[in-house]
Amino acid sequence: MAAEKNELMEKIVSLCKRRGFVFPSSEIYGGFAAVYDFGPYGVELAKNIREAWWKYMVQLREDIVGLDAAIFMHPKVWEASGHVGGFSDPLAECKECHTRVRVDHLLEEAVVAADEKMSETAINQLFSLNKERIVCPKCGKKNFTEAKSFNLLVQSNLGNFTGNLGENPVYLRGETCQGIYVNYKNVLDSVRVKMPFGIAQIGKAFRNEITARQFIFRTREFEQMEMQYFTRPEAEMDEYEKLRAYRFQFYLDMGMKAEHLRWHKHENLVFYAKEAYDIEYQFPFGFKELEGVHARGDYDLTQHAKFSGVALDYLDPITNEKYIPHIIESSVGVGRMFLAFLTEAYTEEALEGGDTRVVLKLPKKLAPVKVAVFPLMKNKPELVAKAKEVFDSLKGNMMCEFDDNGNVGKRYRRQDEIGTPYCVTVDFDTIGQGEDKTLENTVTVRDRDTMQQERVKIEELSVYLQKYFN
Ligand code: ATP
Repeated sequence: MAAEKNELMEKIVSLCKRRGFVFPSSEIYGGFAAVYDFGPYGVELAKNIREAWWKYMVQLREDIVGLDAAIFMHPKVWEASGHVGGFSDPLAECKECHTRVRVDHLLEEAVVAADEKMSETAINQLFSLNKERIVCPKCGKKNFTEAKSFNLLVQSNLGNFTGNLGENPVYLRGETCQGIYVNYKNVLDSVRVKMPFGIAQIGKAFRNEITARQFIFRTREFEQMEMQYFTRPEAEMDEYEKLRAYRFQFYLDMGMKAEHLRWHKHENLVFYAKEAYDIEYQFPFGFKELEGVHARGDYDLTQHAKFSGVALDYLDPITNEKYIPHIIESSVGVGRMFLAFLTEAYTEEALEGGDTRVVLKLPKKLAPVKVAVFPLMKNKPELVAKAKEVFDSLKGNMMCEFDDNGNVGKRYRRQDEIGTPYCVTVDFDTIGQGEDKTLENTVTVRDRDTMQQERVKIEELSVYLQKYFN
């Protein structure tokens, strides 16, 4: 089973490279650890994921507004948030091969309940108790240093011309939600929101991750989609249950199988948190966190009010009640969701004649290319001209690709591998040179999943196809 799963991961990684979804960063220089670039189809898939999330979290919600805060923030933000003192993972080193490991992850793999929020002492006790069961993932030996807390914030020299980062360096943000907290008052004062309301944001975050394996699951530069929801203190847990249900439903609505998703409750809560659950997805390497849905109490706004000296409480216009709003959050990485959708979509199907086709059964809305248009033959100018005409008539409404390379069978295989839901072929019947003259100005539309073909009038094609994507 494990070998099969790893094989699946290898196939996904290979498809991503071969078909232009994901490339290792700076590859011609040998790559750059834990950083990846999205290629031509990857950038489309990532954009569609962002759009689907935004539609669900902002467009369909009258109580949620959007924001795009800068990556760089005042250094005090990270003191207030606790990141300077406490945003750390437990790091140990293999004394044999010097591989650095995340101790909480190694303990979890050995089925010992642990997480990064435990104290250094607590995690070292567990590490020592289980030392016989924990092996280095690289050399297989069991000889580690003690675990030490390693801070994940990435520093920069922005605005610093001394060459010395000093005591208060400017950080690249470690999470996007701090940009939301510090803009809570601006949003409240500028747009007509009233409690409870949410602020959503999509943006880059940076973390000095210790172990960065598993492809785009864990990277040092990544993008987060986060929504922070502000509530009356007494309403926090009710709203939290609603948000949990809403976020789980998102994945079901996007076609993920319920049995590939599950809830994981955090046993070790940070002191201020009320409750914390993760939505886990069954990645090829097992069930792992896809998204966090957490109830954070009033910690965030209380801290920022304290460190900034600006009052951040809310005055209810009807009851005149004054309070610091409590916050519940939903937070997920674009890259992690990208990998989850690829895992869900990757399919190998046996065809008649003994062939196998690889097909990405992505939700149609997420597919990088919606429609591929082919002339039946490349060397027949009338076919090519008509196919171009069809392509031009569609491209304003959906992402299309014109493909005249190789035979139609090969083109289907290529489009299947990138998950294109429909292929449109212009043949001799289309241009009135076939046997059946009633088929003039019609094209063949082939469905990715069923491989069924249908004849559709060109004048009706755009409407016919668009209904699948709206
Ligand atoms: P993990 O336990 O996997 O390190 P975390 O609990 O630190 O994750 P959060 O800080 O809660 O993660 O971040 C919220 C979400 O952001 C995660 O559920 C994940 O989808 C995404 N995320 C966090 N770190 C990374 C990373 N290094 N690379 C890609 N996505 C990430």
